[in-house]
Amino acid sequence: MSARILDGKVISASIRERVRAEVEQLKPRGVVPGLAVVLVGENPASKVYVGQKEKACLSAGFASFLHKLPASTSQEELLELVGDLNRDPAVHGILVQLPLPPQIDPDTVISAIRPEKDVDGFHPINAGKLLAGLPCIEPCTPKGVMRLIEETGISLEGKEAAVVGRSNIVGKPVSLMLLAKNATVTVCHSRTKDIADHLRRADVLVAAVGRPRFVTAEMVKEGAVVIDVGINRLEGGLVGDVDYDAVAEKASWITPVPGGVGPMTIAMLLQNTVDVAAGRL
Ligand code: NDP
Repeated sequence: MSARILDGKVISASIRERVRAEVEQLKPRGVVPGLAVVLVGENPASKVYVGQKEKACLSAGFASFLHKLPASTSQEELLELVGDLNRDPAVHGILVQLPLPPQIDPDTVISAIRPEKDVDGFHPINAGKLLAGLPCIEPCTPKGVMRLIEETGISLEGKEAAVVGRSNIVGKPVSLMLLAKNATVTVCHSRTKDIADHLRRADVLVAAVGRPRFVTAEMVKEGAVVIDVGINRLEGGLVGDVDYDAVAEKASWITPVPGGVGPMTIAMLLQNTVDVAAGRL
């Protein structure tokens, strides 16, 4: 079998187009969706992500509020800015780019964001609601993963799903979302014995490990849907957590890296922000 490609660029472009149309519809109500992005320090990857998010905001017709703070910023200073953004009615969504410098505790900062403006979906209130199956702002990358799976037209009900990785920003939430769609979910991590045994059962496999080409063809069931969240910077460029060429021979659907989950994450950030601005979330 040779896999069909789940093209995140194409799918995200249509979502972004729809978001732009929603922005136009909000105009007569005097509402312009506003996203505040806070970058602390000089992390090169973070700078790239923040630049992409700002560009996407502007092209969607949002108001973009970019706050670049020096690496020496204290936690108090950052919390003060978050407080200001919480109170600013022009700001519908607040995103503090991670990682933060060592003097700042990311959990404290995320918890300080008003849950209603937490368009990253990382606040414990939103994470708890996701766990409880209540409506909430869902985290962007897992939401993008689910949207890609939806695009295949394959129902998750009763399917075996395996997730490699259990981080709070990808692995855990995506596992909960798969469970909510009635998949039988196995979550693998660094202490899992015989990962291949688990993965080979999976009709849907989500890799969020952060290790280049971790998932090899031998670990993949014939005909599986394979979603690669990983972004690993190697000398030759970006590669995912999946050994793409070999796995594409076995999978029924696969996401490329780059051009798969990455663009979906940004599209979902825009979607979350416009949903908040429109009063839907
Ligand atoms: P983390 O480092 O927070 O989590 C990695 C997870 O993988 C952990 O749960 C860890 O297990 C598990 N893991 C690590 N090594 C192994 C191993 N050898 N065998 C099995 N499991 C292992 O990463 P993130 O979740 O933040 O991100 C994962 C990847 O996704 C990264 O490449 C990141 O760059 C990318 N990413 C991409 C995004 C996008 O928009 N496309 C957005 C966010 C992330 P344990 O818990 O036991 O330590």
